[in-house]
Amino acid sequence: MDNRLGLLSSQMNFEADGLPVSHVNSTCSRVKDVVIHPAVMPNGRKTRLLKTLLSSACERDCFYCPFRAGRDFRRATFAPEEFARLFMQLHKADLADGLFISSALAGGGIRTQEKLLDTAEILRGKMGFRGYIHLKIMPGAEKGQVMRAMQLADRVSVNLEAPNKARLAKLAPRKVFWEELLQPLRWVDEIRREKAPQGAFKGKWASSTTQFVAGGAGESDLELLSTTSRGYKDLGLARTYFMAFNPVPDTPMENKSPTPALRELRLYQASFLLRDYGFDLEELPFASDENLPLPIDPKEAWAEIHLKHTPIEVNDATPRELLRVPGIGPKLAQKIIRARRVRQLRDLSQLKKLGIASKRAAPFILLDGKKAASQVRLF
Ligand code: SF4
Repeated sequence: MDNRLGLLSSQMNFEADGLPVSHVNSTCSRVKDVVIHPAVMPNGRKTRLLKTLLSSACERDCFYCPFRAGRDFRRATFAPEEFARLFMQLHKADLADGLFISSALAGGGIRTQEKLLDTAEILRGKMGFRGYIHLKIMPGAEKGQVMRAMQLADRVSVNLEAPNKARLAKLAPRKVFWEELLQPLRWVDEIRREKAPQGAFKGKWASSTTQFVAGGAGESDLELLSTTSRGYKDLGLARTYFMAFNPVPDTPMENKSPTPALRELRLYQASFLLRDYGFDLEELPFASDENLPLPIDPKEAWAEIHLKHTPIEVNDATPRELLRVPGIGPKLAQKIIRARRVRQLRDLSQLKKLGIASKRAAPFILLDGKKAASQVRLF
């Protein structure tokens, strides 16, 4: 196996155009130094992804990025055809099912995007690859390129990196927040809403996501989640990713403190409340410094304030009300609704049988008019 692929796939724990995409850890396998990541697809199917760069040679110098121009480390570049050939070798040897591909910038966003598109075109057309492809949209890519990426890939993404223009200037002063990063995400949404997916792989447009470097620019959780909320509502994003900032040696931000992993977790929990649980941004339990409290799950913090003294009757609650209870997610709320059609729910053990973390839910619910919290000791 070409050792450039080993180099680039292991460097992917620092993904170009956003930091870091995934961590190489004990769940990853190495095939002749090429790192393969276990992953779960949006439909729940498990898969093995090759996450890699087409090139790690970058012309820009974003402050936080290990690939910034002038930083001394081993770089590598593939031509689209040779990369596609190598990937297909892995795929045919049953070592990788899908591909996540990004690139550092060389010759501008349009030219770099062209190379990523060429790679996907060769894989889908010439080599007949029908597996999963996640294709990065480069800063400054053109609308036609964005549309082609959406036809070829299952998912496309643009890393906003920071929640707004002022914060981005602290991370990557040569990137233009609106024109280079936000505009391609707007195009993705516009194309999906206005055009039939003609010529799109499997007859549907790619889904879209973004990623932030959490804590890199001194931004608050409120700023990150405000942009996240708009991304879900206005841009049709399938997901936002948060990667805790970690200083990289030999960059202008090498002496900045890393962001605690717990902050990353709280941001994910809050973003799921916005996306899947019907919460509005204004309902999230921000402290006076506009950050989420670290010691407590944001949904639990909300329930402590709003449900502790006015618990929800599980037998009458609407789906939206059930989703407010810690320990109850969208699937479990549906299970409760089906179960209570058959008989009244009177006991925490009935909830437990449905798969609900009944101890978490107990302080915030009533069962047939009685406080469930008093049953907890029975367990
Ligand atoms: S454009 Fe910036 S973030 Fe992207 S690879 Fe180059 S230096 Fe890193």
